[in-house]
Formats: sequence, structure tokens, C-alpha cells
Amino acid sequence: MPDDTIDARTRTRAAAVPAAAGCAVLAACAALAGGSLTSTADARPSGGLSVPGKPAVSAAICAAQRSWTCARGQVLTLRGENLQAVRAVVFLGAAGRRDDVRLRIGARASSAGELLAIVPKRARSGRLRLVSSIGTAANSAKPLRVVNDIPGIDEAGGTGRIFAGGRLQATFAYRAAALGGEDAAVEAVRVSDGEVVRRWPLAPGPDGRGEVLWDGFAGDAPVRTGTYLLRLSEAAATIAATEPGQRAEVEIIEGFYPIRGTHRAPSTATQRFGGARGHQGSDHFARCGTPLAAHTKGVVHKVAFQSAAGNYVVVNTPDGGSYAYMHLRDRPLVREGQSVFTGQRLGYVGETGRAWGCHLHIELWSAPGWYQGGRPADSEPLMLRLDRWS
Ligand SMILES: [Zn+2]
Repeated sequence: MPDDTIDARTRTRAAAVPAAAGCAVLAACAALAGGSLTSTADARPSGGLSVPGKPAVSAAICAAQRSWTCARGQVLTLRGENLQAVRAVVFLGAAGRRDDVRLRIGARASSAGELLAIVPKRARSGRLRLVSSIGTAANSAKPLRVVNDIPGIDEAGGTGRIFAGGRLQATFAYRAAALGGEDAAVEAVRVSDGEVVRRWPLAPGPDGRGEVLWDGFAGDAPVRTGTYLLRLSEAAATIAATEPGQRAEVEIIEGFYPIRGTHRAPSTATQRFGGARGHQGSDHFARCGTPLAAHTKGVVHKVAFQSAAGNYVVVNTPDGGSYAYMHLRDRPLVREGQSVFTGQRLGYVGETGRAWGCHLHIELWSAPGWYQGGRPADSEPLMLRLDRWS
């Protein structure tokens, strides 16, 4: 994929903002968006060794859908009781077992009152069977309607992945009837384990509308690659509603693979980190002239030429560390002090300096950065991870 596609996505998305259909009854809109139903499970006494009772589901919610309706691939929020021990959800489909689809639920993806799951691609409409770790199972009282389409979704740009620190950001719009306390917030939840990774207190304008933009960072680091759900917290859902027709779940990729063309990972000890010659980076081979993109956001610390490194660029990252790209064909395309976004073109693969064969030598340094007091770390594992996603 050429690195220009990020720009293309940004443009497409901007051109196709979904129309806000208006929300006559705030509470109804919140229910559609998954915000307003509160769990009753927490009211139950719970002893340390007590065995949870049978799981029971009282609500099935997917963003911008009617209750008990969800699209394949969409994040499904189940609310009810005794959900903490559920380890599998079986989408039963029609009668008989032939179309059953079993979805494993991670140990931390459920709490007593809530469980998050992604509706499998092969799931069919039907009841849900909740299976707990101790073998108890119960079927939902209602069937889940499984559909193909998410209504009001910006298909062109809105289904694209978001690279943490990139120009394309996730958006979440809401309308609030009042200002809330500290607990009234928009939150980003990791679907795989239910962890809230970021919160934004409600901050509506004079017209009651508010919007959160998220670039996939939590604090000074990108979140782990995965699916995240943007939603109103329970406290926020009592005074605010999600604007309809927007995408509430988003796939975030932790960074962007820097070589934007055919490439070969390190294969010998000398190309890897460490080794006999104290190699401080890892070497990734590609034809000279292949575009190089910033694998994460930061501020350019140094652009220079050196006899061993050749043309090189050092970028300081938000966590205080840095990364360096070396042996670039030409002087890098950015200047010192400039902010760069994930995916931004920094230059081209070359073999300037002490290099045999065209390649990117990449170094990752811990805080406080490259020759600023930090230490080099092996860049290969991150590069291999990013190569799988971009
Ligand atoms: Zn090297």
C-alpha cells in the first residue's frame, strides 16, 4: 500500500460525514447507542467464594442499531447479570447446530453486568447461549437479529483503520442536556478485555453538542492494536445521548510500517540488534527509492549527514524516547523542530554512509532519547508487528 493512501482516506472521510438525523427523545437515542441501560447486577451481595449464578442477558446493544440488532463485525454490548464468568457466547442461529458459531470471551472482557463481543462474520440471527467457566449455560430470552449493514455509516472512510498518531482520527459526537460531574465522560474501551484506556469529560458547547477526536494515543503512548469502542459512561448516559449514525467502534493500529514497498526483514546476526559490532538498530532491506514513512508521531530532533549513518533523521516520540532512520538516499524531507504524524513521508530508502545494499537502519531509543541520555532497544519486534498490519 503506498503511503499516500492515508491522505486519500482523510479526504474521503471528510467528504462523507454522516448526516445527524436529530434525536427527538434523548433517552431513546442513548438506548440505541448503548448508553442508558444500567446494570442491576452490582446490587447483589457477593461473597469471596460464592459461585456466580446462571448468566442472564437483559439487553443487547450495538451502536446506531435497534435494540437486539447488530451487524456482523460490529461490537455487541450485552448487559445483564452474572456475566463475569462467561467464557463463550454461542450464536445459535436457526434450530439445529449446523449454523452455530462459538465465540470465545477473554477472562477480562466481561464484568458482572456487562460483556463485550464482536459479532462473528458467520453469525446468523437467533438466540445467544452464554457458557460460563464452570459449565453453566443459559440462552437469551430474545433472539439477536444479525444484519449486514451498519446504518448511517461512512463506508468509504469510516471503515478504515486508524493508525495511532496519524492524521485520520476517530470521532464521537454527542448531545448533552446538562453538564455532568467528573464521571460523566466519553470513554474508549478495549473490546478484548473491557479496559477503559482513555476518558474525556463531557464538554458540550452552548448548543449542547460535543465531539471527541481520538488519534489512538492514551497518555504518551499508542494503545495496543485492536478494536476499541467509544461510548458514554454510565453517568454520562443519564444526561447525554450519542449522535445517531456514527461509528462507535474503531480499529486502532499501534503504528505504521515505515517501508512503503517490497522489503525484507533482518535475516543475519549483523542485520539484527546487538551482534558482534554493537549494532544499535535493525536493518530492513528494500530497493533504493522506496518511500519511508514515520512509524509513529513525534517531533523531528535532528536531520543530518554522518559518515557512518549517511543521511539520517531522528524523531523524538511523546514518551520521551526517539527513533532514528539511517542511510536515506537523500536529505530527509522534514526539518528539525517539525511535528510529524504517523505515516508522514520522511524520505526514501538509500545506502548513504556505511551501508552495503539499500536498506533502512532503524533505531529505537528509550527516554530521554537518542544521545540525550536514553538507551537503544531492539527495533525488530515492533517492526515485525507493524508489518502485519500495514
Ligand atoms: Zn544497520
